[in-house]
Amino acid sequence: TRGLMNGKRGLIMGVANNKSIAWGIAKALADAGAELALTYQGDALKKRVEPLADQLGAIVAGHCDVTDAASIDEVFKTLEDKWGKIDFLVHAVAFSDKAELTGRFVETSSDNFARTMDISCYSLVAVTQRAEKLMADGGSILTLTYYGAEKVMPHYNVMGVAKAALETSVKYLAMDLGPQNIRVNAISAGPIKTLAASGIGDFRYILKWNEYNSPLRRTVTIEEVGDSALFLLSDLGRGVTGEIQHVDCGYNIVGMKAVDAPDI
Ligand code: NAD
Repeated sequence: TRGLMNGKRGLIMGVANNKSIAWGIAKALADAGAELALTYQGDALKKRVEPLADQLGAIVAGHCDVTDAASIDEVFKTLEDKWGKIDFLVHAVAFSDKAELTGRFVETSSDNFARTMDISCYSLVAVTQRAEKLMADGGSILTLTYYGAEKVMPHYNVMGVAKAALETSVKYLAMDLGPQNIRVNAISAGPIKTLAASGIGDFRYILKWNEYNSPLRRTVTIEEVGDSALFLLSDLGRGVTGEIQHVDCGYNIVGMKAVDAPDI
């Protein structure tokens, strides 16, 4: 992949620490020669993200909370001033109240439903609106989703509903932006132990279940998600848009518990 992204610049949103999926993607892009800008959400994450950005020679484009439109505008202004244009954007952002990522979906509150949808789904639209203006020569936008959008997964609840809306948003955005050669895709990643995932009830059980029952009999790594992201964000993926690409060791094709799966 060396040199694949030479001359390309882009923004990565969603690095919280070195376990983040966005970090796996950032490493793959930097290894391939891309110039990166990272954002962080709040001061607590600033001191985590700054040294990580240094490791990749990336710039830090500042604080961005997607619920605060002014902070999104500021980040894109910074990029416009610094680079003039961008070639790609990675959206690896999601949030829901932990108290509602366990138990029954039917208990979801109106407030948390709206907040989850805003942060985990609408924010892709919000950042795409800004990115479009900086992608005069075309570009590639990528978000992260999960199988809980397609099938009922225990405890995923309102986040599953938000991911279903996110996946459909990918398709509508792909159609709108296609004429400008801006591609919009999602990776549906298998379960990975990250900060966000630790908020989901019984997450260790979900990890084990995937490990025992996926065709590859293991779970996926952030480096593997990073390599698939590199394909979609580079010119190798130039014919692909509106796609929900599973990077899950094949788990999504499975219809039943594997015959060799141990009991958990
Ligand atoms: P993570 O905790 O490392 O990353 C989540 C990021 O979302 C953090 O950087 C956090 O700062 C950011 N975020 C949350 N609310 C925000 C807000 N209001 N404004 C700006 N940023 C905000 O966890 P992760 O698992 O790497 O999550 C990245 C993406 O991958 C998410 O969309 C998640 O749903 C998705 N995903 C995760 C898994 C998994 O098993 N970990 C599987 C499939 C998809």
